[in-house]
Amino acid sequence: MIVVMKPGASQEQINHICHQVQAMGFTPHPIKGVEQTVIGAIGDERGREQLQGLALVEGVEAVIPIMKPYKLASRELRKQPTIVKVGSLEIGPSQFVVMAGPCSVESEEQILAAARAVKAAGANILRGGAFKPRTSPYSFQGLEKQGLELLWKAREETGLPIVTEVLGAEDISLVSNYADILQIGARNMQNFPLLKGVGKTRKPILLKRGMMSTVTELLMSAEYILSQGNPNVILCERGIRTFEDQTRNTLDLSAIPLLKGLTHLPVIVDPAHGTGVRSLIPPMARAAVAAGCDGLMIEVHPQPELALSDGAQSLNPAQFLALMESLRPYLQIERRTLQPAETVSS
Ligand code: PEP
Ligand code: MN
Repeated sequence: MIVVMKPGASQEQINHICHQVQAMGFTPHPIKGVEQTVIGAIGDERGREQLQGLALVEGVEAVIPIMKPYKLASRELRKQPTIVKVGSLEIGPSQFVVMAGPCSVESEEQILAAARAVKAAGANILRGGAFKPRTSPYSFQGLEKQGLELLWKAREETGLPIVTEVLGAEDISLVSNYADILQIGARNMQNFPLLKGVGKTRKPILLKRGMMSTVTELLMSAEYILSQGNPNVILCERGIRTFEDQTRNTLDLSAIPLLKGLTHLPVIVDPAHGTGVRSLIPPMARAAVAAGCDGLMIEVHPQPELALSDGAQSLNPAQFLALMESLRPYLQIERRTLQPAETVSS
């Protein structure tokens, strides 16, 4: 349910409602708008009738139900888009972010070369997997803690914030020590203990759509994180599995405007995993910009032919630079500005 406060309701009245909501066994989530504050009353749907009584309390304009199963993620609760802050970067409307780097961190040389190249081309966040979810247990599994240390080194040298995957709930605190953004991979989109775990942190979370998940399921997974108190969720469309076998996945670009209508959370697109084919990345990246995404994630490797994972869908530095250049007119039409590379404090 949403308790809509009257314009000009006092802080005292807002606090009082939050108290009442809590006393009824729900969790209050106050959201301050420009004119009005709304308070999400989130919890077990049974017994929500008693919340209706709050409509009579002073300072309250209305008590209305949230129709969607995802409450905190829905536009019904929060009309204005969420901006997720990463240092001085703002992920959300108007600004645009590009997260780029190799699929996996492989060596100091490799990650530093990748970090320098993506920064020079205008990317503002460095990606790189230290814990890798691989289909085969015999494939390269990532450098784990050493990989995180190498990412930190690249962060210190370039000032680029880091996004990296956390594969299991037991690694959340370790990965949080190094990452600016925690990535939840497609295979873990419905790992509910992991979602609850990252929901207890206040780190920005990049939540990738599961390869067999619907948009509603993606939003329900976001809800797991939000309901633990972490509002910093970024959604990522990365392709879903269909009967098409010329591409690794089918990049669902319709999910971008669809999500924009359903949720206030920022949406980024990963055309590398979305297609699995290097030559398809630039056109799909441009199409994603045109469809209204808030950012891109691109795999870039100094020498893709030597990559230990996802070489076939990685751009080399020159290809990445060309892609970044080609995005500019599209960003301009969409009235988006690519944010300058950020300098993080360590
Ligand atoms: C990745 O980003 O390297 C990755 C494993 O992505 P996904 O979870 O989307 O497959
Ligand atoms: Mn990859």
